[in-house]
Amino acid sequence: MARREDGRPRSVVDLFLPVPPPREVREARRERRAMLWRAVRGRCPLCATPGLRRGWGAIRERCPGCNFAFSRERGYLSGATWFNLSATLLVLMVVLVGGAAVTAPDVPWVLVGTLSALSVVVVPILFLPLAVTLWLWVDLAYFRPLDADDLGANDPRAERRP
Ligand SMILES: [Zn+2]
Repeated sequence: MARREDGRPRSVVDLFLPVPPPREVREARRERRAMLWRAVRGRCPLCATPGLRRGWGAIRERCPGCNFAFSRERGYLSGATWFNLSATLLVLMVVLVGGAAVTAPDVPWVLVGTLSALSVVVVPILFLPLAVTLWLWVDLAYFRPLDADDLGANDPRAERRP
């Protein structure tokens, strides 16, 4: 331990050592990592429940495990489009620039162009489910943390109650 219990340094050398972040910050980081791991596996970032999709591109209205409303506001899931577009452009860049760099100076432009066009069509379709869960993770972890309304607002079961 480089510092005393009260946070003061023990020696002059300790003044140059980084101060560890407070416990709350470490716990928040740990929770963000856990949420990311759940999202990468295609599960609910909050409770890790699988089966969030109805078909390939459609997502359920609410999480079957924690009742989290996946569409927190009108047009909410358009944030997933950003992830999908980014992944598509990344793959396109790798195919186009990588293909040209590997085969230079005699670049087979017809092949590289065909593979580029194919990647622009296929990657958004394949990446869509992951784009949705990644967007949910980013929004919950950094932009707008969970609040009580996310679990109860617009709940069709709640509307039936008197
Ligand atoms: Zn959930």
